[in-house]
Amino acid sequence: MAKPSDTEDWDERKDRIIGLGERSFRKSYYPQLRENLDRLERFRTLLDRTTDCVVLVALPEGTISDANAALGILVGEPTDALIGRPFVSLGLGDAADVLETLRRETGDKAESGDIPAHSDVTEFHRDGGSIWLDLSYRLAVLDGRNYGVIVGRDVTERKLAQEMADALLAEKEALLDNALVGIAMARQRKIVSCNRRFEEIFGYPPGGLIGKSSRVLYASDEDFKALGAEAYACMNLGRNYSATHLMARADGSTFWGELAGRSIDPARPDEGSIWIFSDITERKQAEDRAEFLSYHDALTGLPNQSLLKDRLQQAVAFSHSTGTKLALMVIDLDRFKTINDFLGHNAGDRLLVEVAGRLSRHMRSTDTLSRQGGDEFNLLLTNLAEPDAIVTFLGELMEGVQEPFRVEGQELTVSASVGIAIYPEDGVDFETLLKKADMAMYQAKDAGRNAYRFFNQEMNEDAVEQITMHAGLWRALEAGQFVLYFQPLFEIPSGRLIGAEALIRWNHPDLGLVSPGRFIPVAEESGLIVQIGDWVLQEACREAMKWRGAGHPELVVAVNLSAVQFKRGDIEQSIARALEETGLDPEHLELELTESILIRDSENVLSSVKQLKHMGIKLSIDDFGTGYSSLSYLKRFEVDKLKIDQTFVRDLMDNTEDAAIVRAIVQMAHSLGLRTIAEGVESQRVLDVLRGYGCDEVQGFHCGRPMPADAFMEFIAGRR
Ligand code: C2E
Ligand code: MG
Ligand code: MG
Repeated sequence: MAKPSDTEDWDERKDRIIGLGERSFRKSYYPQLRENLDRLERFRTLLDRTTDCVVLVALPEGTISDANAALGILVGEPTDALIGRPFVSLGLGDAADVLETLRRETGDKAESGDIPAHSDVTEFHRDGGSIWLDLSYRLAVLDGRNYGVIVGRDVTERKLAQEMADALLAEKEALLDNALVGIAMARQRKIVSCNRRFEEIFGYPPGGLIGKSSRVLYASDEDFKALGAEAYACMNLGRNYSATHLMARADGSTFWGELAGRSIDPARPDEGSIWIFSDITERKQAEDRAEFLSYHDALTGLPNQSLLKDRLQQAVAFSHSTGTKLALMVIDLDRFKTINDFLGHNAGDRLLVEVAGRLSRHMRSTDTLSRQGGDEFNLLLTNLAEPDAIVTFLGELMEGVQEPFRVEGQELTVSASVGIAIYPEDGVDFETLLKKADMAMYQAKDAGRNAYRFFNQEMNEDAVEQITMHAGLWRALEAGQFVLYFQPLFEIPSGRLIGAEALIRWNHPDLGLVSPGRFIPVAEESGLIVQIGDWVLQEACREAMKWRGAGHPELVVAVNLSAVQFKRGDIEQSIARALEETGLDPEHLELELTESILIRDSENVLSSVKQLKHMGIKLSIDDFGTGYSSLSYLKRFEVDKLKIDQTFVRDLMDNTEDAAIVRAIVQMAHSLGLRTIAEGVESQRVLDVLRGYGCDEVQGFHCGRPMPADAFMEFIAGRR
């Protein structure tokens, strides 16, 4: 249709539009008509200028009643040529469906006036290419006739852009979901998005983590808070954060994760952060295992030599500060090679594992048993107050190893050769101690195996002695090799002899007179002290009766008791029997107990002591000041006397601290109504000081050495 120009005169236009028919109109209609025509033309222009195609299709025929210029341009034909043509002939992909929908609505919907609008994206083929049209259409009723008003907008570009975006998104998603690491985005510690792998690592179904607080990824509130504080402090500075951390799965199980986080914009933390995550449990286990193996023996799981060395160095530092000793042992199985060759390596390995178990049975938690390989073990004993204790330990260890093993249905007996080096005597570093222990072990092998040797010759002798002693003590009792010595006790102010302490000696056929300090611990360990103690009691009471007979009924005999006598023996009965059999008055028997006896197992000891006190026997605390020095038990046990330990008395003159202790003990004892006796007095000057302190009694070389029974009788007689 020709375009009207604004300058054209109305008369010309009128002629062109309505032509000769003008005369059939009444002049009075003209203004109205002119206005209508103007409007019509404006619409036409509007329609023809829009880029969207607008088509009016007559229904139900489906022919094009009218269309705008854009349709002609789309189809590539003059618009006028399209009028009257079937709509479907245009080649629009969904034309048939569109018509079908509209036709359906011409019936019921047109009448009800409830006419819905539709919209579809349809493909239009042209020149071998595709144009995508967004078709919106609805039914219209004009002059009682049904029409479809169809508007098509070219959305090809939008559609292509969308397709490209979709493809890109799908690609990204595939990339993320198939990544081997978990990736998540968090905002304010909430998971806003994550890939599938992330959900899998934590054991959640697809989408199961979205919107959740990242707290669910941690085993505890503390973990969550601590890691968050650390991570965000780092990321807010624009740095990447990375860590290895224990994480929690949906089912509550934990695993080791490696995580790396980064802020999207450090200046605006609210934008969120991106996290990359992997499950490193397997790697961690492998690392832990490797770490373990680098310090342990793979077969037995025991520490290897590098760990042993480490432990020894630590123990040396500790021993140095506490003044204790260490023992490093080399334990080599005897003839292990034969067993290995005979039974095969598997059985050999099994045996080594069994031996390791057997050896560790004797250890304390601070000791270290190690194996570097082969049939050689090392054992580090720490915190030894007295190296003598090792001898007992070694005895048990050797016996333990010799008990038969059952390996693969076979009964096997093995023995070991052991070499021992002592810190600090034999060396102060690992290499030296190990070398010396090794040399000692070879000596043990030379001695015929199944033996132990100390590197230090003196200690070898001590050990031999301890063992000989152990065997000899049994015989000593029967053979009457024990003797009692008596050391006089005096009252200080008067200088009066008040009694004697009975001190045992062992008259050994080879060793000569052995002091109690050497054999009492062995006797205590074997329990033989109970029998020896009974003998001492009998003998001491008998001797005291002799003093009576010689005209000294006032003299008291003091007898030392061991803790073992309270634990294993029936001490009340032993004492009652001794008194009964000898006829000694209980008042003339004094028992010396150490503080440790009263502290340990005090309920049983208390009842025994109560009975003894009830019998009228006196009680004194020996070596007072070296133990717990707790005042509470002094009252509970109704103690009569405190025997101040000689270590304080000996240096009284030179050591002001010792002097202060002795003085305090005397004062305290007096305020509790107890007597005091100082032992180890070796000079007149010490005696004078003690007198000054108000100490009641005294014992020591200065006043009289321990002496055999006969000598003591003479001593009494001499004093008269
Ligand atoms: P203890 O009961 O404290 O005995 C005192 C020890 O000090 C005795 O040593 C004695 O000879 C010694 N001594 C006395 N005065 C002096 C002195 O002035 N200077 C020095 N340097 N030493 C002095 P001994 O006879 O060798 O006895 C040692 C320990 O053996 C006793 O210490 C006691 O605990 C224990 N003992 C002795 N006889 C027996 C006993 O029959 N049974 C039990 N269970 N233990 C006993
Ligand atoms: Mg004593
Ligand atoms: Mg003492």
